[in-house]
Amino acid sequence: MRFPIENYIAKPGHILDLADMDPSATSYQKGDSRDDVKGRLKDLNKRLEELQHTLWAQKKHRVLLVLQAMDAGGKDGSIRKVFTGVNPAGVRVESFGKPSKNELSRDYLWRCHQVVPTDGEIVVFNRSHYEDVLAVRVLGLKPEDVWRKRYQHINDFERMLTDEGTTVVKIFLHISPKEQKRRLQRRLDEPTKNWKFKSADLEQRQLWHEHQEAFEEAISQTTTERAPWYVIPADNKWYRDIVVSEIMVQTLENLNLTYPEPEEALEGIKIGKI
Ligand code: AMP
Ligand code: MG
Repeated sequence: MRFPIENYIAKPGHILDLADMDPSATSYQKGDSRDDVKGRLKDLNKRLEELQHTLWAQKKHRVLLVLQAMDAGGKDGSIRKVFTGVNPAGVRVESFGKPSKNELSRDYLWRCHQVVPTDGEIVVFNRSHYEDVLAVRVLGLKPEDVWRKRYQHINDFERMLTDEGTTVVKIFLHISPKEQKRRLQRRLDEPTKNWKFKSADLEQRQLWHEHQEAFEEAISQTTTERAPWYVIPADNKWYRDIVVSEIMVQTLENLNLTYPEPEEALEGIKIGKI
């Protein structure tokens, strides 16, 4: 049975209220064993690998996945788990941190537009142009009349990308403040995670509600039929990975990918001895 990814689409024309979704929700039954769940992710990894192989061979479609979340929301982890097994030649992750001086001296879409996918490629935006209506808004880096116009720019930009042959999928990983606390604590406690800890994340945590509000408005204003936002319950990493994988697999399946025809007739060709 097909997994109903559409249940997680933020409907165009509706105002999103994140409080309506339980971040720890899953659609699996209590009785489902860990092995079933692990097996499901393995199957999805395998399927994504096949689809991406065809996408890369065909070089006809381009796919952009935009990933956004609160700090410790699981962007890095889901990239690692969902793209396990794909050919790195055709998949690229672009991470957007604080803009450089060079980037700030241009319009905010410039740094993102430069690294959109080429034919056959999947590109994951780990943070994205959405930071320019999220971080910028919450940190007060630009006045409201500046960032508010950006919803329209973003919709226009994404419409241009889809018109020109890029499939755009956007995913918000929805976690609870309790789960964020647990993950930040783990970064303090586990030596292999210490490198991820930033005290700035604690300052941002104090602005939890402001961030949630910024996400709600950004998602409501920019979820469209052609470039939909999916809001995924992400407290459970295993469930998050399955749903993100399902979205990627079904998005690629909808492209009806095929291997390209060989450039020349192959019948009768003999490869001679050396
Ligand atoms: P990380 O993803 O943990 O490496 O953190 C990157 C940081 O850069 C986050 O705190 C983001 O909010 C911040 N950031 C990303 N894009 C922008 C932007 N356009 N303006 C301001 N801050 C940004
Ligand atoms: Mg961070």
